[in-house]
Amino acid sequence: MKFKSYNNLSFKKTDYYNRLPPKEKEAFDILSTVFHFKTNNYVLEKLIDWKNVETDSIYRLIFPRKEMLNPADYEQLTLMHKAGISMESLGPFIETIRKKMSPKLKYPEKSIPKLNGLKLQGAWQNFGTIINLYPDPMVKTCHAYCSYCFRWIMFKNTEVQNSNSYSDPNTPVEYIRSHPEITDVLFTGADPLVIKADKIKEYIDPILAIDSVKVIRISTKSLGWWPYRFTTDSDADELLSLFEYIISKGKHLNICAHVTHVKELENEIVQKAIKRIQATGAIIRCQGPIVKGINDTAEDWINLWNKQIQLGLIPYYMFVEAEHNSENCFRIPLAKGLNIFQTAQKQATGLARTVRGPVFMNDHHRILIDGVITIQNEKFFVLKSLQAPPNTKGEGSLKLIPYDENTKDPGDLVALFSEDYEKELTY
Ligand code: SF4
Repeated sequence: MKFKSYNNLSFKKTDYYNRLPPKEKEAFDILSTVFHFKTNNYVLEKLIDWKNVETDSIYRLIFPRKEMLNPADYEQLTLMHKAGISMESLGPFIETIRKKMSPKLKYPEKSIPKLNGLKLQGAWQNFGTIINLYPDPMVKTCHAYCSYCFRWIMFKNTEVQNSNSYSDPNTPVEYIRSHPEITDVLFTGADPLVIKADKIKEYIDPILAIDSVKVIRISTKSLGWWPYRFTTDSDADELLSLFEYIISKGKHLNICAHVTHVKELENEIVQKAIKRIQATGAIIRCQGPIVKGINDTAEDWINLWNKQIQLGLIPYYMFVEAEHNSENCFRIPLAKGLNIFQTAQKQATGLARTVRGPVFMNDHHRILIDGVITIQNEKFFVLKSLQAPPNTKGEGSLKLIPYDENTKDPGDLVALFSEDYEKELTY
C-alpha cells in the first residue's frame, strides 16, 4: 500500500466522509478546524469499522469529539456553521480557542538540561539516567494524529517546533558525554519514524559513539498507524538495517510502541511488521494511555495485553491520560482507572504481571497509583514514585492522597514528592 495522507479538507472529499452519520459530519466540520486532523488510507481502509463509527475505538482514536471543546465555544462554532459561515474563514477566532486550550506544563524549566549555563535546545530530562531528544525533523508530524494527543499544539506550528527541537545532530553529544550517568537516549517526536531512514541515522549515529549510552529508545505509533513503515515503504529495509546497525554497536534497541487498542495489532500487515522488527534483535515494549470511550474497560486491556504477549511484545505501561487540554475530556476518574488495571491484570496472562499502571506521564516523577488503603476508616490512594529526579524524594517512595471516587486530579505531584514537602496528612 502506498501512503496517502488526509487532512480535514481532503477527507471531506472521500466516500468515508459521506458515510458519516449527520451528527458526526457536523462535529467533524466544526472540530477539525480547531484540532489538527490527519489520517491515512491504512487507517481508513483497514482499521475503522465504518458501520459502527459512533462506538468504534479506532474512529474515536482519530476523529475529534464534541467534548474536546468547552460547551460555549462549541455552541458558538455550531451557530456559525449552521449560518453557513465557512469554518476555514475563522482563523483568528480559532487561534484564540486553541491558545486557551493549550496543555500547560507546570515546571517546564526544570526539565530542560543546561550546558555551560545555556539551555540545551531540543532536549528534555526529568530523570538522571535518561534524556529525551527532539531532532527537528522528528517533531513535525506522525502518520496519523490521535484525538487525545497532548502534543497537538505543536502540529503545523513551526514556531513551537523550532524552539523545541535541534537540527545539528551533534547538539546533545557534549552534554551526554559529560553526564555518564545517562544510560538511555530516547528519540521522540511527534513520530520519529515518519522521516527517512538515512535521516534518522544521521541523528542516532553521534549518540552511538558515546560509550556510557547503553540503550537507544525510539518512541513511535507507526505499528498502529502505518505498519508498512517496516514492510513495503521504499526505505523499510534500510530502516530495519539501521536497527541492526544500532544493535551491532553494542546498544540495546527498544521500540517504545504506542498501542492504544487491540485492533491495532490484529491484522496480518502489522503482525508481519512486528516479526520484521523482532528479527533485527530490537525489543518492542508497549505503552498507551487509558482513555475515555476508547479503551476504558477491563476487557479492552485483557485483550490488548494477551495479544501483545502472544505476539512477543512486552506490555510496559498503562498511562493516565496526559491532559490533552483544559477540557480534560479523555481522562477517566483515577479510581476507575485503577480498578480497570487491577481487574485486567488478574485476568490476563500471568506474563502481563510486569506491566505497570496507571502511571502519570506528564509530571517530573513517574508516579504509579499503586492501590487504595483504608486507615482509621478513611480511604487513600497509595502513590509510588517509579522514577524521580535526582534532587527529590527517591524512587520507590510512597505517598498517600485522599481517596475520591470521582477525582481525575491527584494535585501537584511534583510538590507532593519533593524533598521539602511538609504537608502532613491528618487522619
Ligand atoms: S502518535 Fe503520538 S505524537 Fe502522534 S498524534 Fe498520536 S499521541 Fe500524538
